[in-house]
Amino acid sequence: MRLDVVSLAPEAFTPLLSLGVIGRAFAAGIAELHVHNPRDHASDRYRKVDDVPYGGGAGMVLKPEPVFAAVEAIPVLPRRRVLLMSPQGVPLGQGDLRRWAAEHDQLVLLCGHYEGFDERIRSLAHEEVSIGDFVLTGGELPAAVVINGVVRLLPGTVGTAACLDDESHSALLLEHPHYTRPASFRDMSVPEVLRSGDHGAIARWRQEQQQQRTRERRPDLYSRWQQASGDSGGG
Ligand code: SAM
Repeated sequence: MRLDVVSLAPEAFTPLLSLGVIGRAFAAGIAELHVHNPRDHASDRYRKVDDVPYGGGAGMVLKPEPVFAAVEAIPVLPRRRVLLMSPQGVPLGQGDLRRWAAEHDQLVLLCGHYEGFDERIRSLAHEEVSIGDFVLTGGELPAAVVINGVVRLLPGTVGTAACLDDESHSALLLEHPHYTRPASFRDMSVPEVLRSGDHGAIARWRQEQQQQRTRERRPDLYSRWQQASGDSGGG
């Protein structure tokens, strides 16, 4: 997959290329990252990318011309999707990451700065993406979140597909607890069933734990799971 980021802070993406599983995916050519700075497309001699808002008010606004020029200079692959990072966007979910990983060969991620984008920049994007109901200073961390979440779903990045199928948010329920050696640590013991070797009992215990965890921590997800699975929750 080709990832193109439009950002005024290209250096923010350098760590992604060398960090852990995602860094190895880039090194292996599973994904490639290209970062484009709108400042390189500014036409005036001060390379100005922001300006005061029409109508007055605090803060500066990202100008349309350098962002349009940066996006238009990016090669277009057949299944491209343009995402604009914005706290006004649709809250990001695992389903979005799966959809982009499965259906697209190129993601273009637009990072805002200052007070945000000139409204006309929104016309470049297919979708607006928020990583939560809070405001950061720029779109770089949100874009890095999307890149991490998508690249780990690409075939070859994470060891086995089973890891991805079981995990939290893959099917509404949160994942069950994990334990490794030692069996006992500071008065905390690994549940007996996990050491029993009874695969049926282990599977049942994990399923119960998933339901219990989701019910306790995320009642909103739990009721969606109940509806989807036809579980009345009466038992
Ligand atoms: N004034 C804007 C507003 O109220 O909607 C916020 C601008 S914010 C300071 C600057 C940029 O950071 C945004 O254009 C966006 O690209 C990015 N950003 C900040 N918070 C974000 C979030 N929760 N999700 C996605 N992007 C965010």
